[in-house]
Amino acid sequence: MDYRNTVALVEERIQAACRRSGRRREDIELIAVTKYVDAAGAAALLQCGLKHLGENRWQQAQDKWEAIGDAAVWHFIGHLQTNKVKYVVGKFAYIHSLDRPALLQALQRRAELLDTRVNAFLQVNVSGEESKFGLHPEELFDFARLAADHDRVRIIGLMTMAPYAEDPEQSRPVFRGLRELKEELNARALLREPADHLSMGMSGDFEVAIEEGATWLRLGSILIGRD
Ligand SMILES: *Cc1c(COP(=O)(O)O)cnc(C)c1O
Repeated sequence: MDYRNTVALVEERIQAACRRSGRRREDIELIAVTKYVDAAGAAALLQCGLKHLGENRWQQAQDKWEAIGDAAVWHFIGHLQTNKVKYVVGKFAYIHSLDRPALLQALQRRAELLDTRVNAFLQVNVSGEESKFGLHPEELFDFARLAADHDRVRIIGLMTMAPYAEDPEQSRPVFRGLRELKEELNARALLREPADHLSMGMSGDFEVAIEEGATWLRLGSILIGRD
């Protein structure tokens, strides 16, 4: 397995999108989503100079985590059940899918027990699509107030998934909506510290996400040439 060519192509496209939108490359982090590959595949992605790995289920992540451990920075990007929190806190530095009070409380309790902290993104269902997890935009501000009372959970930004579409332009209003919600959240100063980050953009729409202010891209299939 050698992903150097696909990773290099993605890097070129990220840089081109940065130039088009007047953004600095160093303000954007790339998470390699490894749910389609095994531990050797994840290791091959690290060989390409990537550092952040993303997984959306603990069951699928476990082998890879045991093989790679601290050689990567781990991001939990999928729906997180509260009964899986015990496996995730302490291993995954970032949770991208914080979307409900029960999960907030479970993260706080586990982090207290391990005397650690977790970085989290509040997941927002900007599009209102039925099947997606995430807070509805009108719930975001009350939830942010609640999160501010949980000192072990550091809210660093917002995350969204755009509905699947052939045309990446379809994702633009969703990404723009997330950016505007972040600006409003910070203007209202509901969190303990400003939320600076936007986790948005997947293989089909990451360039549009960059143009709309993404700071963390979550890319899977395109990195392994599956597009
Ligand atoms: C699978 C997944 C990705 C990556 O998707 P690709 O289209 O393969 O790039 C990003 N974010 C989440 C939450 C995912 O589950």
